Amino acid sequence: METRELRGCSEDELIEICEKIGLKRFRASQLFQWVQQKAVRTWEEMKNIGASDRQAFSSRLSLYPLEKVREQRSKDGTRKYLFRLDDGETIECVLMDYARTRSRDRHTVCVSTQVGCAVGCAFCATGLEGFRRNLTVAEIVGQVIDITHEVRQEDPDFQVTNLVFMGMGEPLLNYDHLLQAIHLLNQSKGLNIGMRRMTISTCGVVPRIIQLAKDNPQVGLAVSLHAAQDDVRNELIPMNRRYPLSQLMEACQEYTEITHRRITFEVALTTENARPEEAEALARLLKGQFGHVNLIPVNPVAGTGMERPNPELMRKFAQVLEDAGMSVSSREERGTDIDAACGQLRRQWEGELK
Ligand code: SAH
Ligand code: SF4
Repeated sequence: METRELRGCSEDELIEICEKIGLKRFRASQLFQWVQQKAVRTWEEMKNIGASDRQAFSSRLSLYPLEKVREQRSKDGTRKYLFRLDDGETIECVLMDYARTRSRDRHTVCVSTQVGCAVGCAFCATGLEGFRRNLTVAEIVGQVIDITHEVRQEDPDFQVTNLVFMGMGEPLLNYDHLLQAIHLLNQSKGLNIGMRRMTISTCGVVPRIIQLAKDNPQVGLAVSLHAAQDDVRNELIPMNRRYPLSQLMEACQEYTEITHRRITFEVALTTENARPEEAEALARLLKGQFGHVNLIPVNPVAGTGMERPNPELMRKFAQVLEDAGMSVSSREERGTDIDAACGQLRRQWEGELK
């Protein structure tokens, strides 16, 4: 009999399974809560479901917790995990803690959506490795569940509050699984993470940006821009040849018209692009967009030849944008002492295995 992945099932799907195997509907809610909210990793831990019912469920549902292969902790508290999937592939996942003074603390998980990535950006460790496969819904959700489980060993009240889909892979090229995962992570009987506290980062898959605005106007969007001119961006992000900047900017306009949400434009600065002319081109490009620019010094990845600009150049770059009336921030760097740029830990680990 074919089995489904438990962590990828909605409560309604579990109710359907209950009906098929002759169990009461409330068992589905219990099961859903054990897995999605209490973040348990084994059938045995589901204390209020009897052994025979657990047995009946497990004939229809498979439960594959992610296996932690490595964990690195940064001085600033950032933790980076390397997880092994049941077919042996590995993915990275990062937890960033931001203590707040007045409101509650923010605990953000950076989630992966694919093993590898087909886009192949020139600066990205994940892109260098090529594409292996899409993650299943259970594997996307599982990252947040397993990190929650890990941290709760030390802090039983721990809750993930925010998600950024900025890990390995291009989220909008695994669109259906991404949307299902978001829906599960948002459930009040699950981890209950607000849609408005989730941000999807894309290198610019134009048709999917518009579709996302229509399908789920609550989630936030970050666009990895990195360059304001097509010839430069073509070299950095090969997807730009298919969806050039004019189309991308139109899609962004449409996204904000539908969602009324401000877009974050990500710009990784290198010794090559941190020039005032680039900043001016960026200001021209983004004129009229409802957006915010986030500047990040590139994380140097072996084999890419990309290097960080000096801080003075970055400040000047930000100044040009501010003078043009734009909202700008320089991303707080987190976890740089642990290779937090996604794809780097996996590469390092695979290199050691060779
Ligand atoms: N594929 C999506 C999301 C994953 S990448 C995207 O490209 O947006 C998440 C972010 O990390 C993107 O903004 C990407 O451009 C950035 N990134 C990748 N490698 C980087 C590096 N070496 N230094 C700085 N940022 C990097
Ligand atoms: Fe893929 Fe994003 Fe890396 Fe580009 S930056 S290769 S789109 S993961």
